[in-house]
Amino acid sequence: CGIVGYIGEKKAAPILLSGLKKLEYRGYDSAGIAIQEKEAVKIIKKEGKLDKLKASAESEVFYGGTGIGHTRWATHGRPSDINSHPHTDSFSEIVIVHNGIIENFRELKEELIEQGHRFKSETDTEVVAHLISTYYDDDLKTAVSKAVKSLEGSFALAVMSHNEKDRIIAVRKDSPLIIGLGENENFLASDIPAYLEHTDNFYILEDGEIADIRKNEVDIYKFNGDLIANKTKTKINWD
Ligand code: GLU
Repeated sequence: CGIVGYIGEKKAAPILLSGLKKLEYRGYDSAGIAIQEKEAVKIIKKEGKLDKLKASAESEVFYGGTGIGHTRWATHGRPSDINSHPHTDSFSEIVIVHNGIIENFRELKEELIEQGHRFKSETDTEVVAHLISTYYDDDLKTAVSKAVKSLEGSFALAVMSHNEKDRIIAVRKDSPLIIGLGENENFLASDIPAYLEHTDNFYILEDGEIADIRKNEVDIYKFNGDLIANKTKTKINWD
């Protein structure tokens, strides 16, 4: 029930875990993170409390400065390690976390299975990773923009491709999503408290917006592809 993301010069894993901790109040049954490492995207995900995820994260070494994380409140597919997010396409090239419900996932899943896609989980979310992979050429933003046109329901999504390590694409429809703006680093979360200790400067995404997040730049577009040139920044005052 919470999403986080980090892209910058620090190691992403601890920043993602601390962001998820701050979103615990939203409730969840499982949690996971995905980090862009040199060779591949590395994913750990676990049913249960964040401490369980933390313990297994601490027994591994993560170097990457780009990553996404998730706390899940299961709607489709029971709580389990496999149904936890992040999810990927058949070749683990597209990696996503999702809050919300994809209402038409059964139809989409049937079509994708006919096309040869192999599914690992019982979730509605996994279809989105596969769908994006069918549109992926070499530009993740284009692929995500095409995929969201076929999605019905509610979604806040954060998406990475292992071919584009310095980019996170985020979209929002009927589920909250904010972007925290830093120096040589940017953050992504379901809610502002996740990253208030790192920045007081935010973009609050509206329904039907897609964000292209890099460490030094954030561009926000409408689903139809139009750049939103003067998106308002929200400054949080401490008093
Ligand atoms: N519908 C998705 C699932 O059940 C996402 C649930 C959530 O928002 O945490 O996996």
